[in-house]
Amino acid sequence: MSINNSILKLLNMKDSNLIFDENFCQERNIKNKRSLIIKGYLKNEFEYCPCCGCINNGTIIKYGSKTCLVKIPKISELDSYLELKKQKYLCKNCNKRMTAVTKEVDYRCRISNNTKHSIIYYSKDILPHTFIAKNHNVSNVTVQRELNKVYDNETLYKKYLPEAICIDEFTAMKRTMAFNFCDAKTGKTIDLVLDRKLENLIKYFRYYLKETRDKVKFVVMDMYKPYITLVKEVFENAKIVIDLFHIVQLISKSLNKTRIQAMKKDKMNYRKMKRYYKLLLKPRLELDCSKWKKYICFKHLMTEVDIVDYILNQNEELKNTYNLYQNILYSLQRKDYSLFNEIIENEYEGISKYMETSLNTLREFKEYIKNTLEQPYSNGIMERNNNTCKLIKRVAFGFRNFSNLKARILISTNIFRKERSSKISFTTP
Ligand SMILES: [Zn+2]
Repeated sequence: MSINNSILKLLNMKDSNLIFDENFCQERNIKNKRSLIIKGYLKNEFEYCPCCGCINNGTIIKYGSKTCLVKIPKISELDSYLELKKQKYLCKNCNKRMTAVTKEVDYRCRISNNTKHSIIYYSKDILPHTFIAKNHNVSNVTVQRELNKVYDNETLYKKYLPEAICIDEFTAMKRTMAFNFCDAKTGKTIDLVLDRKLENLIKYFRYYLKETRDKVKFVVMDMYKPYITLVKEVFENAKIVIDLFHIVQLISKSLNKTRIQAMKKDKMNYRKMKRYYKLLLKPRLELDCSKWKKYICFKHLMTEVDIVDYILNQNEELKNTYNLYQNILYSLQRKDYSLFNEIIENEYEGISKYMETSLNTLREFKEYIKNTLEQPYSNGIMERNNNTCKLIKRVAFGFRNFSNLKARILISTNIFRKERSSKISFTTP
């Protein structure tokens, strides 16, 4: 391999118009920093003149040259530049002057395309803009400009919607919630909308064609009523699936509130009830009943089941609520809708008012919970995306401009997100 090809490989460039001589590498101080300069010569060969179109048989002649410094990605952690000596040409036929061009650097740009690609590649990870800018020896504005180029054409994304989508929201700017929706199968974010008000969301989804919207069959969401109105309004063929995690969270929160209420009344067992709250929330079948151990707050050797039973025996209301909680949990775990329906339709006496409220909510969302137990979709993938969004925001100490945040999130959770089939798993919060 000739030395020219080796240098091109080293710089990850392919343009054979770039020519390097023996002393191609130099060190120099630029902006008070030790930097690496790669010297190159750029020429073009013309078959005809690009301006007047005359065939080049000696009509285009060399006409001086000009040198410019182009930023390239760091080499050995040193700021690196490509010092290009560009050949200038003159067409004798039309008297136009031309400068040699290359694919590696845009016309009149001082930043190589390699650097620009690298900036986009870096932005897939949770790193602040300032770090990416510093690492590529460019300004923050350059980083943002390159990221915005990837997502400038808004109309492009209005033509397709997947079969199943997840919807959720997160705090994007100061006191403003952003609406976020993604593909339930691959986990790729489709779009972000700054407003989650119902009328604005309906307006937003009306931009999609009706045939596109009608192809959506499932919408996974948490128990937020305006979203149900939204789905009925814009996705006519879609079934609503309530996320399983949020159902379990609802009933476990009400059990916890009941326990705290009981705890405050009973000063004798306060510490016991507080310390072992996780055992109450655990599915009863997963409790350990064979290992006798010494537990803090208890004098005798006990098992986990003993502790739960001891706590329940202190308070009748807590016991009733706990039994109902465990029954609902069991039916959800077994994905048995008829059992679930039977449990929530019964009337209960002696349960806490918190559980009563949750029970009413469950009755209200009953038909959607049926879909949850029959379909394999969950909002887990969405929560993961939301976490990435929050981290990107946090690491950058917040964004002032929503479109900048959106570009960054979409690059990291759409373009560079590996496709992964969503697996449903049963978890207790
Ligand atoms: Zn010409």
